[in-house]
Amino acid sequence: MPAPHFDYLAPTTVDEAVAALVKGGKDARVMAGGTDLMVKIRHRALFPKQLISLKRIDGLDAITFDEKSGLTIGATALLADVASHPMIRKHYPTVAEAAESTANVQVRNMGTVVGNLCNASPSADNAPTLIALNAAVNITGPNGTRSMPLDEFFRGPGITALETGEIVTSIVVPTPPAHTGTAYISISQRGQLDCSAIGLGARVTMDGNRCTDVRIVVGACAPIPLRTKAAEKMLVGQELTDDLIRKAAQKASDETSPITDVRASAEYRQKVTTVIAIRALIDARKMAKRKK
Ligand SMILES: Cc1cc2nc3c(=O)[nH]c(=O)nc-3n(C[C@H](O)[C@H](O)[C@H](O)COP(=O)(O)OP(=O)(O)OC[C@H]3O[C@@H](n4cnc5c(N)ncnc54)[C@H](O)[C@@H]3O)c2cc1C
Repeated sequence: MPAPHFDYLAPTTVDEAVAALVKGGKDARVMAGGTDLMVKIRHRALFPKQLISLKRIDGLDAITFDEKSGLTIGATALLADVASHPMIRKHYPTVAEAAESTANVQVRNMGTVVGNLCNASPSADNAPTLIALNAAVNITGPNGTRSMPLDEFFRGPGITALETGEIVTSIVVPTPPAHTGTAYISISQRGQLDCSAIGLGARVTMDGNRCTDVRIVVGACAPIPLRTKAAEKMLVGQELTDDLIRKAAQKASDETSPITDVRASAEYRQKVTTVIAIRALIDARKMAKRKK
């Protein structure tokens, strides 16, 4: 079935893109790689009259890193580029792993990490690990620029905190403190090829055997990628024993509210969340003890 008619705009600056988005109102949509958007348009789930591509905006595909300001991933940086970037692989290995576990090579060569976040699917592979790492979203709109924690960006399935006319220009991930370890584990029916039935990102910062900071973020088990704060609270300030990890993993699972859908039953999701939370926390603890 052919896609419905729409106008295609390709502005060359963020300001032009914002102006076009404001002018187009509800009939206009921003497009990065189009791997989510075009599927919805072809399936007639969306009928935008204007698509505003970000691809011709200079510099928006940049990926930069320095110890002080951390990692910046531009809005049109491809999943494939994030997955293979040497500095990301070195300093943020789970960010690279999450990008690499998104879809297939064709989609990763078109789709973007920022598009994955703005699509706001509860199962988005890149959200849990980026929230676990305290990422922030840089936004530009008709009233200027603002930044917000990624943790506050998701409002429901397909719904973000973006206001009319606003565009995400980049995400920023701070440099993790010393002795920090991370892990991302996802489960899906067809390996990495389809969206996760469950995804879990964990970050642990250690002082000897004591946990000084932790994030546990579960994807596809609630309307938004979910920080399981009660489980995190159980671990902070404590010696990170296997027994405590098991109890916190159970608590993390209790905090989720999964549904049954084509990818998995609610019961399966709840049981497996406990299992992968244990594995992710043990992996993150191991990495934290190695990292200076
Ligand atoms: C075959 C297939 C397999 C897939 N498998 C997975 C998977 O395993 N895991 C997974 O997480 N996803 C998967 N996806 C979904 C998809 O590939 C990702 O969500 C992709 O990262 C979206 O990025 P994009 O650049 O293509 O976004 P687009 O399709 O261009 O945009 C997605 C949404 O975000 C908005 N948007 C994009 N960029 C911005 C911006 N800068 N500011 C504001 N709004 C913006 C758009 O308006 C749109 O609503 C799969 C898709 C396909 C087709």
